[in-house]
Amino acid sequence: MSLQKDKLIFLGTGTSMGVPIIGLNNPVCKSKDKKDKRLRTSAYIKYNKSKFILDCGPDFRQQMLRSSIDDLDFLLLTHEHNDHVLGLDDLRPIIHKKNQAFPIYGLQQTLDQIKIRFPYAFSENVYPGAPRFKLFPINYLNEFTINDVTILPLEIHHGKLPIVGYKINDLVYITDANYIPETTMNQIYKCKNLIINSLHQEKTHHSHFVLSQTLEIIKEIQPKRAFLTHISHKMGFHEEVQKQLPKNVYLAYDELEIEL
Ligand SMILES: [Zn+2]
Ligand SMILES: [Zn+2]
Repeated sequence: MSLQKDKLIFLGTGTSMGVPIIGLNNPVCKSKDKKDKRLRTSAYIKYNKSKFILDCGPDFRQQMLRSSIDDLDFLLLTHEHNDHVLGLDDLRPIIHKKNQAFPIYGLQQTLDQIKIRFPYAFSENVYPGAPRFKLFPINYLNEFTINDVTILPLEIHHGKLPIVGYKINDLVYITDANYIPETTMNQIYKCKNLIINSLHQEKTHHSHFVLSQTLEIIKEIQPKRAFLTHISHKMGFHEEVQKQLPKNVYLAYDELEIEL
């Protein structure tokens, strides 16, 4: 029996270009505060005896090394944008150690894109050392169980793209949303831990919630605690923004660990 507590680690909390952005001279990108340095958005969860990640972006290798994580059982994908999938090739050390194809769960559209972006992992004659993936399509509200974890996929909208949020027991993980349908709102009302995206403090964005919208939706959901992620430099300094937030809302930062 594992004595370790169930936990989530924010592996990355940045928007698609990360923070700092290459070549950008603004005060947030130049901040010396570690909490203002954001790799691309991803999270690690240890739940019961299972260890897994949500999304696998271009910073995956660095994130695993930084948090000293050396094993994963599976991956849940929210959608197919590159800031959420580009790290798949770096799953090779885990795939080679276990000598089996790595299980990936996502919408059919997302899995189809994985085949297009990583064709060498699916060819008939895979070259020695190439990654191998086993793809499992999921559907909204079709609960499924992997090992000892039960997961409910939720419909989320990201601009014109339908994507997935995940409910795992009392934890809800939503990233890249700009609209949450009523059916999903009913599933997540008063959850314990809500992870939700919030891009910046400007008025709007075509495919992401901005801070004012995220705070509105948190008010509706009424979670015990909410953590904001997928953050751009335009959100401002962590230290200053955190002071303005309601008392159960936290601006997440890389390597923040929460008990589930
Ligand atoms: Zn994204
Ligand atoms: Zn996206």
